[in-house]
Amino acid sequence: MSLLIRNGEIVNVGSRIKGDVFVENETITQIGQNLEVPRGAEVVDATGKLVFPGFIDPHVHIYLPFMATFAKDTHETASIAALVGGTTTYIEMCCPNRNDDALEGYQLWKSKADGKSACDYAFHMSVTKFVNETESQLREIVADGTASFKIFLAYKNFFGVDDGEMYQTLELAKKLGVIVTAHCENAELVARLQQKLLTEAKTGPEWHEPSRPESVEAEGTGRFATFLENTGATGYVVHLSCEKALDAALAAKARGVHIFVESVLPHFLLDKTYAERPGVEGMKHVMSPPLRAKQNQTVLWNALAEGSIDTVGTDHCPFDTEQKLLGKTAFTNIPNGIPGIEERVNLLYTHGVKRGRLSLDRFVDAASTRPAKLFGLFPRKGTIAVGSDADLVVYDTNYRGVVSAKSQHTNNDYNGFEGMEIDGRPSIVTVRGKIQVRDGKFVGERGRGKLLRREPSHF
Ligand SMILES: [Zn+2]
Repeated sequence: MSLLIRNGEIVNVGSRIKGDVFVENETITQIGQNLEVPRGAEVVDATGKLVFPGFIDPHVHIYLPFMATFAKDTHETASIAALVGGTTTYIEMCCPNRNDDALEGYQLWKSKADGKSACDYAFHMSVTKFVNETESQLREIVADGTASFKIFLAYKNFFGVDDGEMYQTLELAKKLGVIVTAHCENAELVARLQQKLLTEAKTGPEWHEPSRPESVEAEGTGRFATFLENTGATGYVVHLSCEKALDAALAAKARGVHIFVESVLPHFLLDKTYAERPGVEGMKHVMSPPLRAKQNQTVLWNALAEGSIDTVGTDHCPFDTEQKLLGKTAFTNIPNGIPGIEERVNLLYTHGVKRGRLSLDRFVDAASTRPAKLFGLFPRKGTIAVGSDADLVVYDTNYRGVVSAKSQHTNNDYNGFEGMEIDGRPSIVTVRGKIQVRDGKFVGERGRGKLLRREPSHF
């Protein structure tokens, strides 16, 4: 099986060249100008188009029992949505809760993906308690190729860890050379503020943001950083949403703490007025940390442009209208999540690169190369280079369209970004050399995706 992608503009971080990419079997074997077409090779004409390394979403939820229900996607639906949108690898949060056995949870999450995903995938292993068997279980999981952890400072008594458990997790992560991702909100303050608001009969989705204000996220971010500082571990703040939390992360970075920052698509494009819409419209826009006051968006775009926000993920987590309505009498029961696995690349390209907020370089870096580097996938993923996996996105910058639930592949009955313009979309998407998408349609092989083994990064 061979494939020649001809005459495109090949974009890597730090370089843009016009040329051809030749793929044999699953791997890029040649990059150059006017490459010969071997007999039997399939040829894709990329004239006038950009050729990107396959995009990587470092933060998604697919199988997820949460808030008395289950997220709607399967690996089949989520991977097709990802691919249509140009994402060829995702990293799913494996999230057993405090009552579950970690190793059993890990096996369960793996079984849900096995043979189902059309794109490649990996896991972050959540540590939701630290008990006698935790260390040996985590060592086994890391040895199995899952070399990153996730902790929640929020979600008290469910996913959340206390400070002691956070310390133990970071200490072990430091020993193993494993990066720890963290949801940074103060669980105690969230629980108290939620109770206070409900007691005052403030039950609608517009009260979700006031129950977890910016200061609560800034405290979580700062505390996580302080624990990194005192254990020497390397950390990654997931879905950072606001200026105050960014300040806490950057202050830590400035004093030498090994801390990286992810923000997610909704926080760049949606503000808290979306969650203030009446009834279910507001509920659709409930996630945590919540959508913030609009002025934070400029701060996030600028930080992304200069690289102090490292990556852009989605926190993809679809709950449909009926599930969102579980919270109709109390915002605390609204399942959290604004899905975006299919929209991330196109909306970031449109509202970032095309609108002049983001260089093409930083776009590729934040959505592909840097996640690959941080999570032990580089140079297999995240770059167009000889020897790398042939995950390629031929991108049509002349396409014009609008985001709509009617045309989405995610298993959900609405889209949080409904009506937003997109200026560009993938015309061809390959996973290890096989064409999986043509012009917005999945045309590939279901179940092609592989679990990617990752080694500890030892930053
Ligand atoms: Zn998440």
